[in-house]
Amino acid sequence: MSARNSIIPIFVPHCGCPNACVFCNQRRISGSLRPAEAGDVKKTIEEAAALAPEGTKRQLAFYGGSFTAIPVPEQEALLAAAQPYLYSGFITSLRLSTRPDAIDGETLLRLKRYGVETIELGAQSMCDAVLAQAGRGHTAADVVNAARLIKDAGFGLILQMMTGLPGSSEDRDVDTAVQIAALSPDGVRIYPTVIVRDTVLYDLWSRGEYAEHTVEDAVCVCARIVPVFQAAGIPIIRLGLNPTDDLSGGDAAGGAYHPALGELVRGRILRHRAQALLAGVAPGSDVVIGIGRRYVSQMVGQRGCNKNELRAQFFLRSLKIAGTDAENDSVTILSVAKPTTL
Ligand code: SF4
Repeated sequence: MSARNSIIPIFVPHCGCPNACVFCNQRRISGSLRPAEAGDVKKTIEEAAALAPEGTKRQLAFYGGSFTAIPVPEQEALLAAAQPYLYSGFITSLRLSTRPDAIDGETLLRLKRYGVETIELGAQSMCDAVLAQAGRGHTAADVVNAARLIKDAGFGLILQMMTGLPGSSEDRDVDTAVQIAALSPDGVRIYPTVIVRDTVLYDLWSRGEYAEHTVEDAVCVCARIVPVFQAAGIPIIRLGLNPTDDLSGGDAAGGAYHPALGELVRGRILRHRAQALLAGVAPGSDVVIGIGRRYVSQMVGQRGCNKNELRAQFFLRSLKIAGTDAENDSVTILSVAKPTTL
């Protein structure tokens, strides 16, 4: 979201969820212990609006549960509470997150009536075996079906996927990204698996029955997934769980939790580009790589990791990374001085 667009989140943790997905504890992830009720909607909108600068487009979002699986009267009470703010233009639209198997024509008609514009679907994986192990209770075909219904009805569609779930692999996660891109969503969120306390996954991991998806694992697979969405022109609106004090304070017990995961992934993608360029460079060379100025720190990598890795991998005598006037993040070799032979 740009500075002039803001999302006002209202959390309905686990509301409507028919089962507990093994990785999920929305109370710990969102920090909201109690689901919002209609009375909270007004309070939350007015508090958030006071903080947003004049001219900001405000979108109200119901997150943290399976909104369309909540009993209909409760859904309607929450949506109705937002209507005066929608009519007055105080908020510009509504969005919500839900499950793929909780979408049908009647549901979409109801959401349209209440001014919902965007629906976020938790797809998580497009591999049925992975979905089963995650306790999702739906199939990949449900994702395809729901995505089509949502798009055909004219809603904005955001698809969420995860990496590193039990039973998955790097190739399965990349395949999920390819299948999700084929559904042409308006945006995606990528959430590498984090082991959150008080989840089934935490218990599996504690008993040694789940090998954690490390930050490094997540960086590797996401460096393959991000280009899939970029090539399809699909915006990635989030990569990695939003950091919170609770998660950083220990609720994230393991797995791919890192406050700057997106930055690490972007750095890794640039490293791959540089590796392709350096493949033919003679060992012992002095090399200068160029990249647009605003991308230099990503190219260098956290604590110089890209620079050190490239220099060691290609046996370079020296490697410099220079900022150029380029607006994009394309990587070029500016100069190569080959070693002199005596
Ligand atoms: S992942 Fe979604 S459907 Fe599963 S328990 Fe969490 S909020 Fe509910």
